[in-house]
Amino acid sequence: MAKQKIPATPSIRRLPSYLHIIRQAEKEGDEYISGTVIANELNLEPIQVRKDLAITGIIGKPKKGYPVHALITAIEHFLGWDSIRDAVLVGVGNLGSALMGYQEFQFHGLNIVAAFDKDPKKIGSTVHGVPILPLDTMELQVRNLGVRMAILTVPSVAAQETTDLLIKAGITAIWNFTNVKLKVPDNVVVQKEDLSSGYAMLCVMIQAKKLEGR
Ligand code: ATP
Repeated sequence: MAKQKIPATPSIRRLPSYLHIIRQAEKEGDEYISGTVIANELNLEPIQVRKDLAITGIIGKPKKGYPVHALITAIEHFLGWDSIRDAVLVGVGNLGSALMGYQEFQFHGLNIVAAFDKDPKKIGSTVHGVPILPLDTMELQVRNLGVRMAILTVPSVAAQETTDLLIKAGITAIWNFTNVKLKVPDNVVVQKEDLSSGYAMLCVMIQAKKLEGR
């Protein structure tokens, strides 16, 4: 089967910000929104916004802009946020618990159905209504639930072994919050969300501003 061409990562990363602004416009009763208005809100070039929005297939009208409702539907559909995706989470520590309580995910169709941990003190309890199950039942549970997506919030030392177990259980998409570069087969996709590297970026920007004397 031919590989589907995925648009550039920065374009995909900008779509949720566009969506936020366009939803706001819808709330305010606007029927159309111009690419320039979106660009100004986000300090981007209008040409960039128009290029990014072309991904959705919605065409703007000269002088009017984009039809707000159709654009929201198209972005949500492109992102797959208009359908429910079940996921499991492994490692219910501080970060894992916070993610389980993050309300925004439900607007994106992400539904955490179960969590796994190896700590006997946590097993059997619930976090934000989601049951914490023993790690050694993970393979069976993931198969029974038919879940394909996992959120990984175990300590880094346990990241690869947990990943191997998840893949054995049939998981094909991993949202990796550890700082480990996971080894996975070709049929498995991984998105790494290393919070430390994001913070490193912020710190370097602070230093650069100091050097500029601001
Ligand atoms: P806490 O202090 O509550 O454990 P934490 O965020 O400091 O929180 P971490 O050491 O980062 O904890 O571990 C995150 C979670 O992952 C913990 O709940 C821990 O019990 C769990 N965990 C550790 N190893 C594994 C593993 N191999 N499989 C599943 N869960 C694991």
